[in-house]
Amino acid sequence: MRILVIEDEKKVASFIRQGLSEEMYAVDVAYDGVEGLKMALETYYDAIILDVMLPKKDGMTVIRELRGTGCVSPVLMLTARAGTQDRVQGLDLGADDYLTKPFHFEELAARVRSLLRRTGTEKTIVLSCGELSLDTVTHRASRSGKEFELTTKEYSLLEYLIRNKGRVLSRSLIQQHVWSYSFDTESNIIDVYVKRLRGKIGDEGAARMIRSVRGVGYIMREPDPSAQTGDDDDE
Ligand code: CA
Repeated sequence: MRILVIEDEKKVASFIRQGLSEEMYAVDVAYDGVEGLKMALETYYDAIILDVMLPKKDGMTVIRELRGTGCVSPVLMLTARAGTQDRVQGLDLGADDYLTKPFHFEELAARVRSLLRRTGTEKTIVLSCGELSLDTVTHRASRSGKEFELTTKEYSLLEYLIRNKGRVLSRSLIQQHVWSYSFDTESNIIDVYVKRLRGKIGDEGAARMIRSVRGVGYIMREPDPSAQTGDDDDE
């Protein structure tokens, strides 16, 4: 999952970036409203954290223009003001939730998870596909009760695949949601990670869940119990 943070206070922005990165999200940061809006319109973000008081373009204008273009990414607004006016205005302009500064990181993380659940097809904290399950709070992954360790990127990739199971995901879509701007588009890094992930979760043979879609990317499907041997579409 990839998140955009639009926040001009460097300390707050870096605190949020660090925390969300540790929670396995890919994070991009914009330090003013103009840059933030530009980034939000160029890339699809799974969630946007938007400060109200911003240089160049304030958060209210950013959310209004964002929704005006049809952007549906969930938005969590950060407000330093105690008054209800900002919250009401933000929600009326299309924000999905708000958080008043100062806040504890745990609360921000919980609200982000809640936004992702609200907009996704999956409404539960534990995502699953076949015997595989992934806890989006503890980041524990297991298959048939056996736990395995995943790196940040492996976790993000698996979470994105499971959230979108049954959908063909192009490499560029996977790149947009799992990697941040520093990503090298020339490399075959997605294929390398998928291979590694398959190895860790023991996803092989005719009943494999992560399938290649030739010339496009990948699809994750519930294992087919009637899968015949020999129809392996990979490599
Ligand atoms: Ca600010």
